[in-house]
Amino acid sequence: MYINFNVLDRQFQMYRNEYTEAAIKTLESGCYVLGRELINFENNFGSFLGRKYCVGLNSGLDSLTLAFKALDIGEGDEVIVPANTYIASVLAITRNGAIPVFAEPDQYFNIDAENIDRYITKKTKAILAVHLYGQSCYMDPIIEVVDRNHLLLVEDCAQSHGAGYKGKMTGSFGHISCFSFYPTKNLGAFGDGGAIVTDNEELDEKIRMLRNYGSRIKNQHEIEGYNSRLDEIQAALLNVKLSHIYELNLERKNIANRYLTEIRNQQIILPEKREDTDHIYHIFVIKTKNRSGFREYMDKNGVSTQVHYPIPPHLSQCYRYMGIKKGSFPITERFAEEIVSIPLYNGMLDSEINYVIDIINGYQ
Ligand SMILES: *Cc1c(COP(=O)(O)O)cnc(C)c1O
Repeated sequence: MYINFNVLDRQFQMYRNEYTEAAIKTLESGCYVLGRELINFENNFGSFLGRKYCVGLNSGLDSLTLAFKALDIGEGDEVIVPANTYIASVLAITRNGAIPVFAEPDQYFNIDAENIDRYITKKTKAILAVHLYGQSCYMDPIIEVVDRNHLLLVEDCAQSHGAGYKGKMTGSFGHISCFSFYPTKNLGAFGDGGAIVTDNEELDEKIRMLRNYGSRIKNQHEIEGYNSRLDEIQAALLNVKLSHIYELNLERKNIANRYLTEIRNQQIILPEKREDTDHIYHIFVIKTKNRSGFREYMDKNGVSTQVHYPIPPHLSQCYRYMGIKKGSFPITERFAEEIVSIPLYNGMLDSEINYVIDIINGYQ
């Protein structure tokens, strides 16, 4: 027995007929970009989140990059971003020429919402709230700081499709909220994809132009745009998956609940679920002191593990020019040394879940 970290064809097999029908229908339609399937998906995903506008894009990174561009955040502007995040959150800021101001996390791995004030300066323009691993940031204090300082709020919901906070979904809080549909995400496509949602008509229009060569009318280029479109096949497949997102998230929650109740090992610290949040367990992240020893043991016993993420953005080679020294963000850096993610995916068999639990419980 070897348990892979993720087995993506399992979630395809769950709704195989619906996916193949949608794909073939799109192939037969003769329209492969900017067609009916995209409009359908944008309408469906927008109403799923209760937002007025949704723009389908080609990736999560582009959704974040175009969000800051549409908000006119650039040269000299500061954006507060969690130090504990995936590199894409930070790339979207620096690719616009803006300055990332890193903020330490709380014990739930998300930005420490109660202590954001200390990162505010005259140059602060926005806060990027990243709902990491499938759990919402604690939004009330963040929204309070945003309102009090007249800032913009952008959400990175790449790991939180359908996750909740006090009865509202992540993606319903930001001036712009950004999503990725990378295949491993909870709402994953069968290739790359992304989207933004907003309630602001001007921002919607601007991002629509930016994704299509800066053009509203064919061959008229009002602004310097990009090619960041979500294609018809991905949109058609995402429409199918979106119709099953509740049960897909529920399956992940059920696996997570088994891990939370059945993993019992002094060496392992389980993730904490925060009050007021509805966690959809994009990734199940545990902590252990001797991580390399643990990972070696797991691998030898047939369970694959991963680390999300071993090098925090501020210590990444590409950002060496910022001159941020190791030790500058001790909480983030300690997480990076102790966290490890265990297999949790749609279509995981009971026998596989049992096996993971038994192997972890046997670790000494
Ligand atoms: C996956 C991810 C992204 C980037 O999405 P892509 O579609 O891979 O470009 C951004 N932020 C976070 C937190 C992610 O997990």
